[in-house]
This record gives sequence, C-alpha cells and structure tokens, in this order.
Amino acid sequence: MQETANGAPRAIIKKMTALSFRQAREIVVQKLREQVAPPTEQTPLVEALGRVLAADVKADRDFPPVARSIRDGFAVRSCDLPGSLEVTGEIRAGEGVHQRVGPGQAIEIMTGAPLPEGADAVVMVEHVVREGKHIHVSRAPQPGQFVNPAGAEAKAGSIVVARGERLTFPRIAMLAAVGQVEVPVFRKPHIAILPTGDEVVPVESNPEPFQVRNSNAYSLAAQVSRCGGLPHLVGVARDEYHHTKACIEQGLESDLLLLSGGVSAGKYDLVETVLAGLGAEFFFTRVAIQPGQPLVFGRARGTFFFGLPGNPASTMVTFEIFARAAVEILAGVATPSLPLTYASLTRDFQHKTGLTRFLPAWLDPEGLRVTPIPWQGSSDLPALARSNCFLVADSEQAHWACGDLIPVLLP
Ligand code: AMP
Ligand code: MG
Repeated sequence: MQETANGAPRAIIKKMTALSFRQAREIVVQKLREQVAPPTEQTPLVEALGRVLAADVKADRDFPPVARSIRDGFAVRSCDLPGSLEVTGEIRAGEGVHQRVGPGQAIEIMTGAPLPEGADAVVMVEHVVREGKHIHVSRAPQPGQFVNPAGAEAKAGSIVVARGERLTFPRIAMLAAVGQVEVPVFRKPHIAILPTGDEVVPVESNPEPFQVRNSNAYSLAAQVSRCGGLPHLVGVARDEYHHTKACIEQGLESDLLLLSGGVSAGKYDLVETVLAGLGAEFFFTRVAIQPGQPLVFGRARGTFFFGLPGNPASTMVTFEIFARAAVEILAGVATPSLPLTYASLTRDFQHKTGLTRFLPAWLDPEGLRVTPIPWQGSSDLPALARSNCFLVADSEQAHWACGDLIPVLLP
C-alpha cells in the first residue's frame, strides 16, 4: 500500500450502492442476531427497571388462583333470578370462603374476594334493592357475570414474562406477583465511543473559532445508556493514521465500537481506511437517508462497529436508527425497538424525494400534532435541543398538506 501525506496507506474501499434505511437496519439486526447470547447476572427486582430478562418467568399458580369477584355486590346463582334472595353472609377480600350459596340465597361479596361455592355470578350492589336480610334483583345476570374464573388471566406454568423482554413497570409487578425478588438479567454491554477529528476539543476547553467541543461523545453516551449499554469514552482520534488506528484498536476491545466523524470522502477522513487495514468486513457503507450520509457498519477483530457521520444531527439520527438496535441486541433484547408513530402536521411540508429525511420537530404533549423546527442543517445543535422528535419524510413523497399524517421517530 502507498502512503499519503498524513501517514495513511491508500486502501481502495469499494463504495456500495445506497440501501434504504429499512434494508440497512435489517442487515444490522440480522448480523447482530448471529452473536452468542450475552452473559447474565441476578439483580434485585427494585433495581430491575429497564433491564432485559435473561430467562422465561412462569406463573407459579393460576391467575387468579380461584374464581374471584370483580365487583362489590352479591354472589348469586343466576338461575334464581330475577327475584328475591336471602343474604346469608359476607365475604371480604383477604378471607378464605367456607360458606355456600344455596337455592334462594346470596352472599355479600367485595371486589377481589373468592366466589363462594354454589354461586356462578355477581350482581353489583348498585343493581339491587336491599330490605333487611333480603335483596331484590329485577334482572337475571348471565352465568359468570363479574366473575374472573381461576386461571382466566394465566395458567400455572405458563410464561408471564419472556426472556429478552425489557422490564417495564407492569412486568416488574408481574415478577413480584410470582414471588421473584431477584431476577436474572443480561449484563449490560460495553460500548466504546470514539469521536474523530482534529477540530474536536474537550468540552471543558475554551475552543478557538475553528474548533468544536466534543458534544457527540455526550449525546452518544446518553443514547447508549438509555437503551441499556455502558458507554466507554475512548478519547478523540486525531486525523492521523497511526493515532486513529491505535484508538480504533482500543475501541474494538469493547462489545461494540461507535465512531463519529471521519467517514466522508475528505482527504482526512481515515476511518474506513484504518478499519480496512485492520481486516474489517463492511456490511454497508451508504444508506439513502439524510442526515446520515455516509455511514458504515461492519465487523473487525470480531467486534461490530459503526462509523457514524460527525455532524451532531447525523450522529444522533444514525445512532437511533441503526446503532440503537445493535446495542439493544447486545443487551439481550429479543426485538429491538424503532419507536415510530404517526402525527398530523401543523403546516404544509415538502422535501426533495430520493432520500428519507429525519428532521428535528416538535410533537405536542399528547403526541398528536407535529411541527417541523426550522434549522440550518445537520450541524444545528440549537435546533436539535429545541426538538423532541424527528419527523420522517419518506423518500418517495414530496408534499404533505397541513393535517396530513406523517411518521415521527420518538427519541
Ligand atoms: P466529519 O464527519 O468528520 O466530516 O465531521 C463533520 C462535522 O461534524 C465537523 O465539521 C464537526 O463540526 C462536527 N463534529 C465532528 N465530530 C464532532 C464531535 N465529536 N462533536 C461535535 N461535533 C463534531
Ligand atoms: Mg472529521
């Protein structure tokens, strides 16, 4: 290989044709799924929010374990009604039942209490007229009315939370309900973050007009943490072959390497050349999106990497669409998320077809209406800071009218 001015061997990297963002994302998901399952550990249930369950959890008994009333009212035999019944007792939640409902009888029952033997329905307290020890019911209930039969919600032994599911608060409640105070979860993957560029300086420095503070390391670290990875900042690679190579080699020791910058066609964009020199396989080098061109995804020394473009919006968007799925799969998630929704535009909108565009936008608090935020392009961090989502403009549609539905990517 020949040497260039800044020490880089000239490697010829074949440019591939641009993929649609869905095709490219499918490649990421497919490749990452070939990985072996991540290691596991136990975590206390109170600390398990957002972690990924590492083993199926089964119901330890029927849910509910016995037939239960789902209303305050009277346990009755539906065949006795309409008519008058004698109230022979009361069952409260938290009590076992020893009483039986015989012909012409009813037992007062509270929500959640077990249905007494003999009864097959519950009549709501609001639907009876009470007179001393008797109730009058004018309409016959359907058998089973306001009763949850044993096992109606889940049968003993059935899976209630599956391996690979992220623990949300309802799933944590489910695990508590089956008696798990400690749960098996996947270990968090280590994600190396390596920005590149001679103009990039530490955030605590006072930059010259030609320098930028290293905001990408921080946005990426936040994005990695939020989807369940442990960010590991590797420093900033200078636009020099040997330094970039040393930093990349260090980053490849993690479970995934995220590079930002240095993947364009510029003279000092060395990331692909260095990776090629390390024997990398490239799965894609172009995707038909904006911001986000160019963008590389591959594997070197057994570790997957993304070369994300350096402009702040490009780095954020390409992480959300592609790298997030990789981090999630490395974290053990069975189905990685791409949280898209539809919202109606508050104004007419148009763009140039050919690329799918992800543009900073404001989604109202109800998530119904979306407004594009004016911006100066993918370096416009102040516009991104005012946004709360990305509007997704399809590559084949040029115009949307005010009120039209448009996809929105939620961060
Ligand atoms: P590049 O993709 O290397 O051509 O970088 C494109 C632009 O992104 C640069 O001109 C910088 O202004 C900006 N940039 C690159 N790296 C960072 C970073 N770590 N933090 C903030 N901005 C960056
Ligand atoms: Mg650069």
